Formats: sequence, C-alpha cells, structure tokens
Amino acid sequence: MAKSPQRGQDGCRGKSPYRKRTTPAGDKEQVEAHTLKSVARSMVGKVAWATGSIQKCERAARDAVTVLCYHRVLPDDQRRAYHDPDLVVTPETLRAHCRVLAERYCVVTLGSALAPDTTAFDRGKPVAVITFDDGYRDNILHAAPILREVGLVATFFVIAGLVDTERQPWYDLAGGALQALQRSGRSRTSPKEAVAHAKTLSPAERQEWLADLLRASGPIQPRNEDLIMTSAQLRDLVAAGHEVGSHSMTHPLLPQCTDEELEVELSASRELLGKLVGKSIDTFCYPNGDWDERVVAAARKSGYICATSLRPGLNRRGEIAPFDVKRWFIDQGRLASPSGKPSDELLRMKICGLVT
Ligand SMILES: [Zn+2]
Repeated sequence: MAKSPQRGQDGCRGKSPYRKRTTPAGDKEQVEAHTLKSVARSMVGKVAWATGSIQKCERAARDAVTVLCYHRVLPDDQRRAYHDPDLVVTPETLRAHCRVLAERYCVVTLGSALAPDTTAFDRGKPVAVITFDDGYRDNILHAAPILREVGLVATFFVIAGLVDTERQPWYDLAGGALQALQRSGRSRTSPKEAVAHAKTLSPAERQEWLADLLRASGPIQPRNEDLIMTSAQLRDLVAAGHEVGSHSMTHPLLPQCTDEELEVELSASRELLGKLVGKSIDTFCYPNGDWDERVVAAARKSGYICATSLRPGLNRRGEIAPFDVKRWFIDQGRLASPSGKPSDELLRMKICGLVT
C-alpha cells in the first residue's frame, strides 16, 4: 500500500499549498475583484457586439460543431451552498442560454452531431450540442423541464455505477465532508482546492484520504437531487429525445486505471447503461476530461463512436477528432452581467470562440 502522507484532522496534508485562510478583509477584496472583472467582461461584450466582432466570429464558426459542458442545475441558494459552485448553473441561467441556442443554433445530441449522415439537420444554422456531466437528479428536476419548454435536446453523461443507488460520487463525499468539518470549525480548507489536490494522488492514496475525511466528519446525508438519476429517469430522458452517454462506472481518472479497470469503466459501463435505457450507448465522456492514448484505444474498442474531453474549442467539420471532442465549459459567473443576470453577448462570445 502507498505510504500515507501526513494529514491534519480534515484529512489534508499539513503544509498543503491549497490551505487558505479566509478573512473578512480577504472576502471584501475578492468580492471587489469579482465585480471589477464582471464589469470589464460585460464592457468587452458590449464593445464586441457594437463593433460586429461577435457576428463576424459567429459567421466564421458556422461550419463547426459547438459543444457546451454543463454539470449541475440548482436554484441559486443551493448553488451557493454546493462545495464547487462553478459546476452549477441556476435554472434561470440555463433557460437564458437555451433561448440563445434555440434562436441561433441547430441543437442536436452529440451522437447525432458526429454521425456520418448529418443531412437531417437544418443546414441554415450552425450545429450545437448541450451536454450535462455526471447525471445528477437535479438534471431531471430542473434541466429537463427547461429543455422541454424551449424545445431542445441534450446529451447526459451518466456515472453508470451510481444509477439506482443512494451513493454519491467520491468528490461530493469529500466536498460534503470538508464542508461539515468547516461548519464545526475543524477545517479551513477550501473543498474545491482539496478535491483538485486529491486528483493528484494515486487511487489508493485518494481512497485513504477520503476514508480519513469521512471518519472525521461522520456520514454525509445526500439530498435526492445530489444523487445520480435512476434508470426510470434515464428512460424518461431517452423517451423525450435526449441522449444518454457513459461517464464511466465510478468516475476515476482513467489514465490511472489498469487495463482490467478500463474494461469495467468503458465497456461494462456502456453495456450496463444500454441495458438500463434499452438503447445503444454510443458516446463517452472522460471523467475530469483526462485521457491518454491507451484510454482512447480502450474507448474505441468498447464500441463508442466518440468521446468528449474538457479541452476548450470548436470542432470544425473535416478536422474533428472523434475521441477528443472539444467543449466549452460553462461557468455562469463568467457569463453574467455585473447585475448577476446571464449575458447573451458573453455567452455568444464564449461559444463562437471569441473568448475562452
Ligand atoms: Zn464528471
């Protein structure tokens, strides 16, 4: 077993670089810096619109497949309470984004966008794909009704091994445990940075780190929306025209897996989800966006037609790498006006590649 690093009560290394102390003055400075950045981004958006840069960039991106990456969808109070709010958009933001997409793009599932025959699409508009990673139940509660209302379809990448269970992904267990320790005054570690750090550990070290954390915090009680969707909910999505793709069996960092583990994460997850939804699973999403050549070879061998990473960018027709489909990570804070409302200009700049 790997030697365990020295850890504090929150399960983190004593001299960890991600250990941060927050002070009221620090909070004020952070809020001021955030507001200034938001004002600057908003001004850039307005100038880009007024000078025609957005429209020009959108015309140049017409031949590309644009893929957007969302994760969770929660009301604002729950978004702020989550251990990593950047991974959450509110229903209001998602609705605003969907309206922009419905007006300007032909929105299809990822499998359809990359299928050999794309003649069924409206060639008058560029193609966009909306994806949701992990498969949280908040997607069926908050995202599915908005997609239905606006008339769009999406691709949901699901952690197959957590379907029909009450278990949470490892990073949510860790985030929840650290938040519990913070509330009881036993940790000042940022959950987001701690989880990022845990991804640098070996699987055995990460498991031990998580077990230490949970021993210190006590059990974490998830709410319904914090769990992964049930198979009945996945079947409802498919019946509504959405696509279900695999996001592995257990959400590991795939390059760290043995060949046997890759077989389970890629092939067995595809088989399981296919049985649960009654349809072939053609698309895959690399957990954490991590892949290497061995992972790509295993994904091809498992029968997927494509896989998405978290590499930002447009997928231009004729240049698409099907096992490294690029996506725009959607962070609602960076796409909001200074008032906090979603900005159409900033979203349009983001998805045509004018800003990354
Ligand atoms: Zn994920």
